[in-house]
Amino acid sequence: MTADVTDLMKKLVSLCKRRGYVFQSGEIYGGLQSSWDYGPLGVELKKNIEASWWNFMVSARRNVVGMDSAIITHPDVWKASGHLKNFHDPMVDCLKCQGRFRQDHIEGDSCPECGGQLTEPRDFGLMFKTQMGALEDDSATVFLRPETCQSIFVNFRNIVTATRQKLPFGIAQIGKAFRNEITARNFVFRSREFEQMEMEFFCLPEEAGKWFEYWLDERMKWYSELGIKSVNLRTRKHEDTELAHYASSCFDIEYSFPFAQEGWGELEGIANRSDFDLKAHMEESGQDLTYLDQINNKKIVPWVIETSGGIGRTLLAVLLDAYREEEVEGRERVVLGLHRSLAPIKAAVLPLSKKLSTSALEIFDLLRPHFPVQFDETGSIGKRYRRMDEAGTPFCITFDFDSLDDKSITIRERDSLDQIRIPVENVVEKLADLMDNGWPAAQ
Ligand code: ATP
Repeated sequence: MTADVTDLMKKLVSLCKRRGYVFQSGEIYGGLQSSWDYGPLGVELKKNIEASWWNFMVSARRNVVGMDSAIITHPDVWKASGHLKNFHDPMVDCLKCQGRFRQDHIEGDSCPECGGQLTEPRDFGLMFKTQMGALEDDSATVFLRPETCQSIFVNFRNIVTATRQKLPFGIAQIGKAFRNEITARNFVFRSREFEQMEMEFFCLPEEAGKWFEYWLDERMKWYSELGIKSVNLRTRKHEDTELAHYASSCFDIEYSFPFAQEGWGELEGIANRSDFDLKAHMEESGQDLTYLDQINNKKIVPWVIETSGGIGRTLLAVLLDAYREEEVEGRERVVLGLHRSLAPIKAAVLPLSKKLSTSALEIFDLLRPHFPVQFDETGSIGKRYRRMDEAGTPFCITFDFDSLDDKSITIRERDSLDQIRIPVENVVEKLADLMDNGWPAAQ
């Protein structure tokens, strides 16, 4: 990593800790490597990303339904899916700097960090194993799911029966996944416990190509709606040699992560999984997972287009994209220019002086039932604005001495620093309007 990149990541990691976005897990014990805890603002941002995904993928569509499955899964699921056989990465170690790398992530035969000599590749199993019940023998071995999608396939028949959905339709899920990554690094980009947002779209085999194009477009649209700049997003087709064992074609949606080799890192994979998974589970379980195509009156195994993204990577892309340092009126400020729909705190209520706190608290109470808002009375007003800029809060509401007489408050917008003064009685309505339509100048 170049000095600039290291510097940017250091600054972001530090901001995340300072403002309560993300903490190193088990920090007081020295920290558990590549395990992360989300703090008060982090959990809100994560929830906002999840809600946006769920709304875009499920609530807004007639033909996508949701589910939430168990993390500890029947071991035969992973036999059928191919994970027990295929889910391992060949790794190489550097004899000089002791760095460890995925063989498929490096070019040439010397260390990408220091140019040192590398060992022969060795395999590392990526699934977390545990035991279910009191017995500690092989028959009790179960796995923490390394992806959420297999539970969708094994519940295919249940969901068709319960919902009477007709092809084409999708099943979506958000949940934890676990991979014993060997080179977990780059903050929440690659961790061992992470959350996936996956959707499996079942369709007629002859329509799979069309739906693949459709979902690739839709997914790019979602990332843009989060406010991520389009110059920092791209799609990349997988080479034939890169394709996973189940995929007949795959595109990645990538973000220009500063630490990524060649400048781009995966946010999400869109794959045409053909009928691989349903067929594999039919074979392993001996159950019928076919679908009755009523138009042609024949049983078929649907094909599947998968969209598979990660919350941690989306959250990191959103934060990196929003982070900026600038000079305003001769003073430096750090801003998280988060889209208002994602911002954990929508508005902060700030009394100009502690003497005004009682009246300002009344405004805070007016807003609280409607929006996630914060009250802050400590420090100079300039310091409090800076804190909110760093936290990504789009609007600050200031109660000053004139407010006592004119019953009005000032709303300041984070990016333009423009201000408007409005009557206190309109504050809920005005904030709702700003949340829906944005700041007037930006409309
Ligand atoms: P990579 O090549 O970077 O290891 P992958 O191709 O193995 O990723 P998938 O199996 O396609 O990843 O998983 C789907 C999504 O889940 C990824 O696009 C990513 O957003 C997320 N994801 C996968 N592994 C991790 C991880 N270790 N930490 C955080 N997110 C992850």
